[in-house]
Amino acid sequence: AVKDTKTENTDSNEKEHCVGSVVANHYNQLLERGVAERKESRIFHMRNLNNWIKSRIIGNILDRIRRENGSHCRLNVLDLGCGKGGDLLKWERGNVHHVVCADIAETSIEQCKDRYATLKHRSRSNVFSAEFIAADCSKENIMERMANRELKLDLVSCQFAFHYSFESLPQAEQMLANVSSNLQPGGYFIGTTTDAEDIMRRLGRKEYPENRKFGNSIFSVEFPIDTPLDPPPLFGAKYNFHLEEVVDCPEFLVHFPTFQKLASKYGLTLVQKTRFEEFVIQELDQGKDLLMRMKALEAYPPYGNQRPVSQDVVDYEHVQEYLD
Ligand code: SAM
Repeated sequence: AVKDTKTENTDSNEKEHCVGSVVANHYNQLLERGVAERKESRIFHMRNLNNWIKSRIIGNILDRIRRENGSHCRLNVLDLGCGKGGDLLKWERGNVHHVVCADIAETSIEQCKDRYATLKHRSRSNVFSAEFIAADCSKENIMERMANRELKLDLVSCQFAFHYSFESLPQAEQMLANVSSNLQPGGYFIGTTTDAEDIMRRLGRKEYPENRKFGNSIFSVEFPIDTPLDPPPLFGAKYNFHLEEVVDCPEFLVHFPTFQKLASKYGLTLVQKTRFEEFVIQELDQGKDLLMRMKALEAYPPYGNQRPVSQDVVDYEHVQEYLD
């Protein structure tokens, strides 16, 4: 989404019981895995595919900002829900100037700092400067915690994290306030999140009205009995997401039309919304080499004989035909 020149601010500090601490505890306890261990993982290829998708989104938007503002502009970025810093290398490759890394999980922020220190140590070029904020971005105004509160951001990135804020309207609003308040007019907000319509479709309640769960041996989505489903609420539509080795905690459906409307209150206009399956096809032309290098497709014969978790996310046959 792109930031308009006019924005409204909504102050929301409503205190209520919520799952933030459950989410923070979950991510705080995640163990750092070594490269060898990661390769053994049943979700190795899916993680690589997700990483490739993020690389393409980030690379594309940085190119676009530079086209619009001049190739030498210094870019300031906010990585909202940065986790352990899985995108630090992408910011380095994108040659940005400064990155504000924020996450609710303190241990992840510590790991992110360590990774940044290693990157800085290793890098021969002038790596970006960075700052780290451990905060619930759906409850706190993180600009108040920034080294320079007036810092103008060119880009806000929220990868696989926005859905946690859809627990309540005030939380989604605070998250959007954090996206928007320091974003330059003409600046961009990019992100990846879950597709509520797809999740509801997969529950298959038309055929099985009692269904509250779907998945396979690697992942599952299960709605607890106290989440109404006919229809689900716009906020607080809680489900438990389990993904082998990585995630085991509550998330919330993001009703996209509501998200879009709310985002427009914060001065953001939708530029593009694409499902992963379309995005992969769109990006093959430019991103083919990186895709192969990242081994994101080896899960599909003839690239390997493991059955990919993401098989129904990406049309592998189409991708394969394209690459052949
Ligand atoms: N963006 C990273 C990436 O793509 O590798 C991490 C994604 S991980 C699936 C989701 C992250 O969102 C976790 O690090 C979690 O701690 C963070 N998160 C969840 N709720 C949050 C909140 N309210 N405020 C800030 N971070 C949050």
